[in-house]
Amino acid sequence: MKHCIWCKRTELETDFKKLAHTIPKSLGGKMICINVCDECNSYFGNISDCMPAIEETIKETFNISRARFLKQEDYGQNKALVRFKSKYFNVNLKEHKMSVKPAFQIKPGFQMILALQLKRGIYKMFLEELERQEGTGHDSCYDFIREYARYNKGDLPLFYFERRYGVVLSSSDWIKSPELFITHSRMKYLIENDYFFEFEFLGHVFAIAKCLNWQNHYDKYIEESEKIKAKFFTNLIEVQFLTDIDLTLRIMNG
Ligand SMILES: [Zn+2]
Repeated sequence: MKHCIWCKRTELETDFKKLAHTIPKSLGGKMICINVCDECNSYFGNISDCMPAIEETIKETFNISRARFLKQEDYGQNKALVRFKSKYFNVNLKEHKMSVKPAFQIKPGFQMILALQLKRGIYKMFLEELERQEGTGHDSCYDFIREYARYNKGDLPLFYFERRYGVVLSSSDWIKSPELFITHSRMKYLIENDYFFEFEFLGHVFAIAKCLNWQNHYDKYIEESEKIKAKFFTNLIEVQFLTDIDLTLRIMNG
């Protein structure tokens, strides 16, 4: 019996006919969470309350990074990147040039809304992948994530770690079809604990809250995390504007 991790309805109460990609298909995501109903799935894919769609914001945030990692042979029909499409940026992949379109306003208000949708999207990917990989997405300890990602209630943090050097990738498959690993063991600079979830996604390293009372554990966590990351990262930013993130991975330029 399918049981939606977002609205908690079952197959008896609502439809589950569409495939719910945990990571947007437009970013190469292939994984499906079966316990997401059609209504919740379409909520994340569509504009609501006059805000950009959550999935589109995720795509816009990460597709430049992804395109930068892909190789020439990855572009074209039936390849990882058929066509580079962006609502906010003009990108010349060959010359690594980028300019912003008028739709991408550098106004603080708009940048804050984009950051909100990005944050909600990252919490969405986390809960759907947690459900897919470990089957624990329905646990009531994650109700706060449901409230935030699906119903836009409350505020949750997204931490972004600024790199000291360029990005080293161990697998090109993670670029073609990005994944979110719930348990690590692969990156020695990522911490695993009960309060925060750290992960690497298309060259960017983030942390989100894994428990409602994350603030109580924040100081200790940050101290530990910064110590482990000191060699590879310079700064920790709590994301408030989309432009807080190094969208184009400038660090790769030199
Ligand atoms: Zn639902």
